[in-house]
Formats: sequence, C-alpha cells, structure tokens
Amino acid sequence: MPKGRTPEEQSADPAAQEMLIRAEMLGIDTAFSRADANPPCNIGAAGMCCKLCGMGPCRLTKDGQRGVCGATIDTIQARNLIRAIAAGSAAHSDHGRDMAFTLKAVANHEAEGFVIRDVAKLRRVAAFYEIPIEGRSPDEIANQLADLFISQFGQQRGEVVTLIRATERRRALWREQGVMPRGIDREVVEALHRTHIGDDQEPEHILHHAVRTSLADGWGGSLIATDISDILFGTPAPLVGQANLGVLKEDMVNVVVHGHEPTLSEMMVAASQTREVTEYAEAAGAGGVNLSGICCTANEILMRQGIPAAGNFLQQELAILTGAVDAMVVDVQCIMQALVSLAERFHTKIITTSSKVRITGAMHVQFEEHRALTIAKDILKLAIDNYKNRGETQIPDVREDLIPGFSHEYVNYMLGGSYRASFRPLNDAIMAGRIRGVAGIVGCNNPRSRHDFMHTYVTEALLKQDVLVAETGCGAIASAKRGFLLGEADAANFRVAVGAAGHVVVVERPHVLSRDALRGDRAFGRRHMSELRMTQTAERDDVADGRHAGHARLVLRVNLDVTSLHLQADALGVQTSGDRSATRGHKQIVGANLLGEVSPQVGIYQTTDDANCSGGIQHMHHGVTVGRGDLDGRMGFARGGSADQ
Ligand code: SF4
Repeated sequence: MPKGRTPEEQSADPAAQEMLIRAEMLGIDTAFSRADANPPCNIGAAGMCCKLCGMGPCRLTKDGQRGVCGATIDTIQARNLIRAIAAGSAAHSDHGRDMAFTLKAVANHEAEGFVIRDVAKLRRVAAFYEIPIEGRSPDEIANQLADLFISQFGQQRGEVVTLIRATERRRALWREQGVMPRGIDREVVEALHRTHIGDDQEPEHILHHAVRTSLADGWGGSLIATDISDILFGTPAPLVGQANLGVLKEDMVNVVVHGHEPTLSEMMVAASQTREVTEYAEAAGAGGVNLSGICCTANEILMRQGIPAAGNFLQQELAILTGAVDAMVVDVQCIMQALVSLAERFHTKIITTSSKVRITGAMHVQFEEHRALTIAKDILKLAIDNYKNRGETQIPDVREDLIPGFSHEYVNYMLGGSYRASFRPLNDAIMAGRIRGVAGIVGCNNPRSRHDFMHTYVTEALLKQDVLVAETGCGAIASAKRGFLLGEADAANFRVAVGAAGHVVVVERPHVLSRDALRGDRAFGRRHMSELRMTQTAERDDVADGRHAGHARLVLRVNLDVTSLHLQADALGVQTSGDRSATRGHKQIVGANLLGEVSPQVGIYQTTDDANCSGGIQHMHHGVTVGRGDLDGRMGFARGGSADQ
C-alpha cells in the first residue's frame, strides 16, 4: 500500500474509517489510497491544460504563455469549464429525457409495474403549462405533459417552457442578460461547438454561454426529471430513515442500488416486497432482502420509500469491503470502474442495467420499462442466489436516524396547512431575523479532501449562524450520517460531553445569540430547551478533541425535543452541586458567553472555584453550562464556560 493519509485523515466518518482500516489490512486499494498514490497534475487542476486539437496538448504554466494556436490561459480555462458544464448538463438532462419517455410509457400502459402515484402533482404541473386538466384522465394529461417535456430537449427557438416556473423578475433578468435557454440539447451542443478549435476565444463570451447551458439543465432537464419522479413515485414528505454502512444486515440478502435514477430502484423496492421474492430469500436461508442505496439513487428511494442509504459516493467501494453486499445494481453516473475488480475479491455481483453504461467484467441486465417488475425480480433472485457465497463479513455498527422528504410542496403545506399552504411563516422568520437566510448545499465527495468533512463543516457553520440549510446529493447523506437531518429543532447543535471522570458536562448550543437577545426570551426555552432526551449511543468525543481537552472520550449524543428540556443528570452520571434556574448572578459566574435566560426546567449547575482556568473544559468540574459557541466550534463554546472569559 502506498504511504498516505491515515483513515482518520481520509474520512470524517467512523464507518468509513473502519472500512479503510480493513482495506489496508487486506491489501486492497480504494479511491482514497489511489488518490494518495496519484497526486493531481497542478496544470490540469488549474484548468490550464488544453487538448482540444491535435497540435496540443498545450500545458500552460506561466502568465502570458500561450498555446500553439495562441490561446491564452483565460481562454483555455473558460473552455475547460464550459466543457465540464456541458457534460454535466448532458448527463442530468438526459436523465430528465428518459424520465419523460417513462412517463409517456406509463400513460400508455406500456411500463410494467409503474403507476401515476401523485395525480395531484400531475394536475398541478400540467396546469403550469396550460395543459387542460378538467374532465381528462390522468393518462391523457400525462401523455400531453410527456410530449411537451420531450419537445423541450430538441426545441430550436424560443425559451425552454419550464423556465416559467421561475419568478417574473428572475426571468426578466435572464432575458436582459441574454441567457434564456432556447432548447436543452441546443445549449449543450453549442457549448461543444464554441469550444472546438478556432471558435469562441473570448473568455467572458464563453462563460456567458456557460450560464445559459447551466440554466437549460437546472431549470430544464433536471426540473423535468424531478417533476416526473414526483408524479410517478410520489412527492416526498417526511419519513424516518437511516444512513451509513450499518444499515447492511448480516442475516439478510443485501442489495445495494447505486447511481442516479429512480426507475429501476423503485421497482426493486416493489419487487423486494413481493411474496415471490421473500419466499425465494427464505428458501436460500436468508431473513429476506435488505435494500439500501448509494449516491443519488439512495436519495430517491430514501425520501420516498424510507429505504436506508448505505452511504454516499465514496462509500461505494467501502460497502463491498464489508463482504456483506450480495449484489450492487448500478444505473448511471458516479459508478467507479474499480468496483468490478474489488468485487472479485469478495462474492459481490456488480450488475449494470442502463443501455448507456457497461463496465468490463460486470454482469449486464438490460432494464426495460415494459418488463420493469419482472427484471427487478430477476435481479433480486440473482442476489439471493449469491447469498450462499458470502465469506467473512465486517459490517460497521454505525448508522444514524434521519428524517428526509422536505420537498417544497411539503414545506409549503407544513407552514400553512391544507387550506392555507404558504411560505409566509418562513418569509416572516427571515424578515424578522430569526432565520438569517436559506442555503442550498449540493455536491459530491472527493477523496482528495477529507471525506464528508467539508460538507458537514459548512452545514454546521451555517446552522450556527441560524441559516436554514436544504441539502441533497452526497452532501445530504454526509449530513444525515452526522445527525444533522433529525428533524428536531437544532438537534444538530447540541452535544453533551462527559469527561472520563464523569465530572464535566457541556451542553452546547452554538448559535449566534447574545445574552441580551436571550434575556427574558421565553420562546428560547420553549423552542429549544425542553426535554433533553439522551440516547446512550457513545460516539467519538468531538468536544474533547481540542487542544484543551484533558478529559477525552465518552460523548453522549442528545436528541432535543422541541417542547421541553430536562437534563437528566443522573443518567449522565454527573455530580451536581444543585439544580438552579438561571439567575443573573449565575450568569456572571459562568462567564461572558453564557446564553443566559433558559427555561426553569433547565438545570444550571454552578461551576466550582477551580473553574478559574485557562479556558480548558477539563477544569469545569461539576459544571453544566449552556453557552454560546462560534465558528471555532465546540471549544469556543467550552471557553464560554470558563470564569476567565
Ligand atoms: Fe493547443 Fe490551441 Fe490546440 Fe488547445 S486548441 S491544444 S491551446 S493548439
């Protein structure tokens, strides 16, 4: 194995770390070790390598340098960027095109096992485009809607119709800037044309079209894919799920679906619940079929069906390393070629299913809509037949609950009810400053940086600033594994840390709140400080990892109920010096960063004299503080509890 980073440096996820240790012990390489062994080319990483024609490749390294044709660094970088955007737009929008063909097949009863699950959404979407809905059957509406969507890919003039879903002001801006997409395919093709040798060579002009290409995907192909997925499989609403490799089961046939499309995976869910398949699994000596997902296919069936996510992009190899995956069924995008050679070390079958994706050495079972359910059952039976070939397994006992499914339709309903669905409460909260904004985090992992770290770091930092975060993609799975998607108010922001001697407890609420802001704010108590229910799940000691920590180890995670907070000191095994309500005097003792006014139910335990320390929480014997953190994280909070602050 090449010398590289430690598992802790490669991933922030304990389940991934365990599998990386296993990989090293077995002498198996992964994306992580390959990244360590293959340092990136600095010229390529900066987008300064051009290979658009046979006179190159031209690798530019210095300011003012030019390619053989005279292309500048700026031009080459712009061309490389737009080519990446064109490829991404093509991939995601092509998914939308396939979904439109599936919708048409379903409307014509040519897709085995599929039905239109969300007729209300079908009617709502059709109405956006002035497709008549009154007195028409769902199939008639779906047929016309599918035709409209399909036409948007090859449209040559005008504007992609789905952009009417944006606000009038935004559309006016796009028109003014000349970036309204005319047709989805047209913009992708033009991006490639412009970057052919001897075409567009003004960087700003190239990037201008990059915006138009991106809009064609984001407000065109991808929006079409989302709408059709909701129509066919149901608009997501909150449900309970789980994430991480610990969702794999020792006594069941584990089938992992991986990729980006919901069509086959939804059918796999349906097939796995048929008597035919469950009896087949039992006959093979298994307790049943345990489906889970990787990547965006995971998100699709997680938010609609509650099927657990085994992990995100960088965990596809790690899932196979458990030895417990009987089949990994892939569709399109983000599938590593390394899976096949890795699977040969275990018993896992890698099954490709898309007409667009084959991997040398993998089994191919072509997915076709008109035989969808039959094909899904056949694939599951292949996995069940493979169950007996399992060897030694090692499944990390690491999983986290989450509540996914906050579609914009659900949020609208949640805030206003059935008859007065509205985003008004959210808008009011933003205008009043209670929520300081809404951020979207989307994106994949990269083994060149610490797995999951950046996603969760940014998410946590935004939460600390009272910013509402909406996530999808691998970032959402990273946050789920970290416990950020629990659906409980601010649950992600609270931690209870217990010192090795059981003497130190820190309750953290690292929000940006001043003492003044909290003084007398009963709403704070009602919203955040009620019954604090602790799970006994010990995790690595986030709090004690800082340089001040002298008490490292046990951390008890807490789930925060929105109605009441009650610290169960006994359960924590903490010696306390009394149960006090917050008082002005107590606040002075605890320190400058104390949040202060809390619910009377909250036990505030006075710190002892030797809390007069240099900022280390190890000195806060017998103390519980409710304090304020900052972007410095938990130690920042801990400093809030020391008397010298
Ligand atoms: Fe070199 Fe110009 Fe050809 Fe690019 S297009 S490879 S810069 S000669």
